[in-house]
Amino acid sequence: MNALSGLKSAVVGPPLWLLAEVTYRCPLHCVFCYNPTDYARHEDELSTDEWLRVLREARALGAVQCGFSGGEPLLRDDLELMVAEAHRLGFYTNLLTSGVGLTEERCAALKAAGLDHIQLSFQDSSREVNDFLSSTKTFALKQRVGEMLKAQGWPMVMNVVIHRLNIDHIDRIIAMAHELGAEYLELANSQYYSWALENRGHLMPSRAQLQRAEAITDEWRRKLDGQMKLFFVSPDYHEARPKKCMNGWGNVFLTITPDGAALPCHTARMLPGLSFPTVRERDLKSIWYDSEGFNAYRGTGWMKEPCASCDKKEEDLGGCRCQAYMLAKDAAAADPVCAKSPQHGVVQAAVAAADAGRLPEQPLIFRGRAESLRLSTS
Ligand code: SF4
Ligand code: SF4
Repeated sequence: MNALSGLKSAVVGPPLWLLAEVTYRCPLHCVFCYNPTDYARHEDELSTDEWLRVLREARALGAVQCGFSGGEPLLRDDLELMVAEAHRLGFYTNLLTSGVGLTEERCAALKAAGLDHIQLSFQDSSREVNDFLSSTKTFALKQRVGEMLKAQGWPMVMNVVIHRLNIDHIDRIIAMAHELGAEYLELANSQYYSWALENRGHLMPSRAQLQRAEAITDEWRRKLDGQMKLFFVSPDYHEARPKKCMNGWGNVFLTITPDGAALPCHTARMLPGLSFPTVRERDLKSIWYDSEGFNAYRGTGWMKEPCASCDKKEEDLGGCRCQAYMLAKDAAAADPVCAKSPQHGVVQAAVAAADAGRLPEQPLIFRGRAESLRLSTS
């Protein structure tokens, strides 16, 4: 791969979004966790000063939105310092949290630091399933956190990852969000990366489940008449065209991992043969504009067939590079979600198994350090 090949048709602008994954540590063990399965190999977290420098460099580069995520970002006791600096620099700030670790005091401190927005995740509408999927007893706590967020005057933004094990509860999930006073509810079907890929056979809904869930969501949209915004994100395996992943590689999003690697998306480090410098080695400006990793798949110059001659290539940019690598073993291939991909059969087979209710023999794998170390070496 020539690092400049992707640049032939790309005009590189600044990043708009900084995603600060401030830690991979998390008290929960979600079976669909989006953190890399080998996260336990990357435990050398950036210090407070290093994160503050990242914020300054990203803002100078032009980023305007800053999302603090993890793992569970509240496990960093310097989170308030980071939020305050991001706010001072002029970022619009967002915290993505499971709610675990959020007390009245921390809520007030984050509000005082200038935090603009909090997204609270639930796993389900029932205590049993919520606690089973995260392998923790956190349901009641999340409900209390929802009340605290309202009391601080933040809009209530709730996120629930949807999959085979909770999709039939969608009516109750929407009702719960409404009862808690949510202004926004994101019903994001699991995408099959990382831990969700390990558990794909258990998590993928059938088409019938999906259609029913969409119909119920539409019914609620009519009933609520704008009182709560409902976003339903479909799983891309059930589509014939891939999504424009991350709105284009190295185009809008700049992710910094807990140990400082700068990535075009949070899973890009899995791709073989690419180097992604850390913020300990280089400044963000040179990483964004000049590094091999960020330039590898910008634009369309890197494409091979069927994407290279496809009239949709500017619309979806060939889909997701990580998905291409995971399913076609070639990061420069068309995303196998695409019906034109020679490997589309892999996706069709997974959907057919879900439709037929064929579940894998392998039990669900819960995210955890021991499993991460096992998966890193297997
Ligand atoms: S998906 Fe679950 S386990 Fe993963 S970081 Fe979020 S809350 Fe933690
Ligand atoms: S062939 Fe490539 S560019 Fe064309 S629709 Fe499929 S993924 Fe997109």
